[in-house]
Amino acid sequence: MAKKEVRTCFNCSEHMPPETEHFIIDGDPYCKGCVEVREYTACQYYLAGDFMGDSENDDRVDHIQDYDDEYEES
Ligand SMILES: [Zn+2]
Repeated sequence: MAKKEVRTCFNCSEHMPPETEHFIIDGDPYCKGCVEVREYTACQYYLAGDFMGDSENDDRVDHIQDYDDEYEES
């Protein structure tokens, strides 16, 4: 019988089956219980009317909703 690989939280080792809301931080999966989500209002910066950037330019974290999770266990 093949070894069963299951996805677990990198922080607390909780099993995260397919279709589970979770986070990917620096390439490692984390469960919903370990990651605190703080909502905030992003700022956008304009210089003389031209958009220069915003405060949401951190792409280290992916927030995957359960309905977007396409992970499959073998
Ligand atoms: Zn966890």
